[in-house]
Amino acid sequence: MTQASLKTLDGKQHVSSADDLQKLKTGLEGALCLPGDPGYDEARTIWNAMIDRKPAVIVRAAVAADVVLAVQFARQHHLLVAIRGGGHNIAGNAVCDGGLMIDLSLMKKVKIDPKARTAYVEPGVTLGEFDAEAQKHGLATPLGINSTTGIAGFTLGGGFGWISRKFGLTVDNLISVDIVTADGKLVSASEKENPDLFWAVRGGGGNFGVVTAFEFRLHPVGPEVIAGLIVHPFAQAKELLEGYRKFVASAPEEVTAWVVLRQAPPLPFLPPEWHGKEILVFAVCAVGDKDKATKAIAPLRALGKPIADVIGPSPFAGWQTAFDPLLTPGARNYWKSHDFKKLDDGFIDVLIDGVKALPGPECEIFVGQLGGAVNRVKPEATAYPHRDVDFVMNIHTRWREAGEDKRYIDWTRKVFDAAGKFATGGVYVNFMPEDEGQRVQKGAYGPNYERLAKLKAKYDPTNLFRMNQNIKPGA
Ligand SMILES: Cc1cc2nc3c(=O)[nH]c(=O)nc-3n(C[C@H](O)[C@H](O)[C@H](O)COP(=O)(O)OP(=O)(O)OC[C@H]3O[C@@H](n4cnc5c(N)ncnc54)[C@H](O)[C@@H]3O)c2cc1C
Repeated sequence: MTQASLKTLDGKQHVSSADDLQKLKTGLEGALCLPGDPGYDEARTIWNAMIDRKPAVIVRAAVAADVVLAVQFARQHHLLVAIRGGGHNIAGNAVCDGGLMIDLSLMKKVKIDPKARTAYVEPGVTLGEFDAEAQKHGLATPLGINSTTGIAGFTLGGGFGWISRKFGLTVDNLISVDIVTADGKLVSASEKENPDLFWAVRGGGGNFGVVTAFEFRLHPVGPEVIAGLIVHPFAQAKELLEGYRKFVASAPEEVTAWVVLRQAPPLPFLPPEWHGKEILVFAVCAVGDKDKATKAIAPLRALGKPIADVIGPSPFAGWQTAFDPLLTPGARNYWKSHDFKKLDDGFIDVLIDGVKALPGPECEIFVGQLGGAVNRVKPEATAYPHRDVDFVMNIHTRWREAGEDKRYIDWTRKVFDAAGKFATGGVYVNFMPEDEGQRVQKGAYGPNYERLAKLKAKYDPTNLFRMNQNIKPGA
């Protein structure tokens, strides 16, 4: 083992001796990787290809005790630390340049207790891996729309998807966590144990420690649900979005319908003449009784003259992967997001103008539907405060060539700025890119920020965990 030069919290360099590193390595059940070692590039490569950072040292944790050792090592040497769960976050904070990266992606245990309807899940598990195990028992907790997303970062920011209107955010279904705090101790947090820490991790991102296990509540779901896509010509977007607005106003919370605006990918059920043309897609999932679900969706299916309507019974776990082919890793990605209480006419116009200027075939604007069980929780009950939001717009800008960055990012910002006056000012922390640090206080946490800053001072006074949408330790 050679020595390594590591970046410290104040941006200086710390040279770890070969002895120090060997000692750390010997204590690990997992691996310690230096540049060039097997596993190093795999660990530092994340979903967003815009992020290409090189940590000086990577601890590939196998068990919680490895995380304890890594945090103690980082603390002792005041090192810059990054934490990787599934590596999906757009901002790329899972990887640091020059510091110590704690890679949790090999911690992959999922244990379902079908009787108690609970799940024990390690932080390297992806949403698809969790769904697959829970669905063996006809159970699920609300997860997101892309199965390769990691459970860890997803949950710590809040987490929502197709069944959140019925069952709440992912954090609303969190029972407890095991977490290594900045003092290098492994503790549990739940409503009963360290309840203030438990409050903070339910939305506070990776600010409060490294979670080594999650315990979730599960609900009976499927295994078949009514789900699918309705694809329309974009020319009818205005009337369709007005119809959608009316539909969602009275849709039961078993039904969730999102809007996707983009160019048509070459999907087998779309006539070839539509491939590459602008389309409006309603993506729909309805849980519970299938006849009731089909009836509830009928008014949405009656809108306009769709190019394709492929709604029907679908295995829930399969539907949870429906968007995977459009969201594969390895592309350059930039996102911007706003929260909305309603869909104003002016906002609909912004969406339409935005799509008319789409910069490329992989770019899309998503409008996700919230409300229902998510909004029955009080804003101060968990760190995630956006409990009066019914829609989230996410501009997913995606391209391949580094030389094209400016053109794509400029389009994103233009649509985002135009939509701003119809939005709440709030933003879901998990949809924020790395250049939005100024939105953390008011936008991401608003009324909960002060309490979060105090808890940050209690649990991480030196801001050891700062590679995130950072909450600064406050008085
Ligand atoms: C294609 C795509 C689709 C998405 N769809 C949805 C969706 O439907 N709904 C939704 O709510 N979100 C969605 N997201 C956003 C997603 O919730 C975030 O990207 C989330 O941060 C991903 O978690 P991760 O573990 O994969 O990411 P990582 O990049 O590994 O982690 C993100 C951050 O979380 C922190 N972190 C990770 N693991 C831990 C840990 N164990 N302990 C402490 N801190 C940790 C770190 O600060 C890290 O920088 C989507 C993202 C993508 C890229």
